[in-house]
Amino acid sequence: MNILVLNCGSSSVKFQLISTDVEEIKNDADRKLARGVCERIGGEALITFEVKDGKTSRTTAPLRNTQAAVEMIIRWICSADSGIEAIKSISDIHAVGHRVVHGGERFTHSVLINDEVLGEIEDCIDLAPLHNPANIKGITAAREIFGVGLPQVAVFDTAFHQTLEPHAYLYALPYQLYRRHRIRRYGFHGTSHRYVAYRYRQIKNIPRDAVNVITLHLGNGCSACAIKAGNSIDTSMGFTPLEGLVMGTRAGDVDAAIIDFLAAKEGMSISEIESLLNKQSGLLGISGLTNDMRELLAEAEETKDRRAALAIELFCYRARKYIGSYLAAMCDTEGTTADAIIFTGGIGENSHAVRTRIANGLKCFGLELDEARNQNISTRKEGDIATDDSALRAFVIPTDEELLIARDTVRVVRGVEQRY
Ligand code: ADP
Repeated sequence: MNILVLNCGSSSVKFQLISTDVEEIKNDADRKLARGVCERIGGEALITFEVKDGKTSRTTAPLRNTQAAVEMIIRWICSADSGIEAIKSISDIHAVGHRVVHGGERFTHSVLINDEVLGEIEDCIDLAPLHNPANIKGITAAREIFGVGLPQVAVFDTAFHQTLEPHAYLYALPYQLYRRHRIRRYGFHGTSHRYVAYRYRQIKNIPRDAVNVITLHLGNGCSACAIKAGNSIDTSMGFTPLEGLVMGTRAGDVDAAIIDFLAAKEGMSISEIESLLNKQSGLLGISGLTNDMRELLAEAEETKDRRAALAIELFCYRARKYIGSYLAAMCDTEGTTADAIIFTGGIGENSHAVRTRIANGLKCFGLELDEARNQNISTRKEGDIATDDSALRAFVIPTDEELLIARDTVRVVRGVEQRY
C-alpha cells in the first residue's frame, strides 16, 4: 500500500510517502518514496520536496490554507517532477495516516477515522488548542481531496502513555478537577518513544514484555519515558507538552506559583506568561542566544559563552534527574530496574557531547559510556554506546515516527493487531 503520512501544524504540513504492507512490515522492507514540508502556510509558503535519492527542490507559492498545501503536495507526488514511479495518479495513494497530537483518554491505539472519531478528536481540542485544530484541518482536507472512501487513520501522540497508572498520571490537585475537566498528565511524543522501544526489542531480539528502558526524546521538544515490560509507566510531559525537561524554548518543570508572581511583578497577563514559558524559555531563555543546541555547543566551545554553557548544563542536569527518578520508578521488588537508556531526537541522535554530559552523572547507577563508540556513531545509525562492562546500557536509536504512522495505517486498514 502507498501510504501518505501527514503531520499538519498550525502553519506547516509535513508529509512522507511510504510504501508498505503486512509482509513488508514483517521483513522491515518498507520503502520511503518521498518526503517534504510546506511552511508558512497562509502567505507565500516555502515548499521543500525531497525524493528518495536525497534530491531536494525548493520553491515558494501562495498557499492560503492546509487544504491548499495538501492539494499541492498530492499534485507534486502524482507529477512527473517527483519521479515516483509507483504513483501515476491520486488513485495510487491507498490510505492516509495522520499524526494527531491529543487523543485524550479516549484513544489508546491508532484508529480508522470516521465521523464519530472525528467528533472525538474535536472533543480533545480543549486539551490541545494549538495542535488538534491543525490536525483536524489535515483530516478534512484529505477527505475533500480523496473523498470519504479513502481510509484515513489517526495515530495519537498521547496513545502510548495511556498505560500510565493513576499515581503517575494524576496531579495532586483536588480530585474533582480531574473528574470535571480531565486535568491529568497525558504525555506526548508517544509515537517516538514507542518506535525506539520497538527498535530496541528488535536489536536485542527480545519479546515486548522484556523491554525495560528509559527513552529520551531530545529534539526541539524533549521528553523522557519510563518503559517497563513494554508499557509506558511514566513520562515527563504532562497535561500539555510544557512540563518536564528543559526544551528549545519551553521551560519544562516550574513552580506554578511563579505565574502569579510574574503577573504581579511584570504586569503580565496569563496568556503572556504562558507564551513566555512556551516560547521564550528553555535553552533560548537561559542562553539569551538561541534555542538550537548545535549553536549553543559551538558558542560554549568557541567563545566560552557563559550562558550558553549554563543552558547546556541545565538541559543535561534535568535529563539526568529524570533518568534517576525513572530508575527509582521502575525498580521492582527483585531490585531490577531499567536495562538501558535510549537517546533519540535531533539532539539525542546527533550530539555525543550532550549524551556524555547526561551519562557522566549516572556512574552510580552503573552506566559507563564508551567514548569512542559514543563519538563514532554516525548520523541516522543505531547502536550501543556503553562500555562492555557497563551494567546499565546506553543506545542511540534514530526515531522514525512517520514509519510507525504508515505501519499503523496499514495495520488498521488490514485489520491486523497493532504492536504497541
Ligand atoms: P523537532 O523536535 O522539531 O523534530 P529535532 O528532533 O530535529 O527537532 O531536533 C532539533 C534539535 O537538534 C536542535 O536543537 C538542533 O540544534 C539539534 N541538533 C541537530 N543536530 C545536532 C548536532 N549535530 N549536535 C547538536 N545538536 C544537534
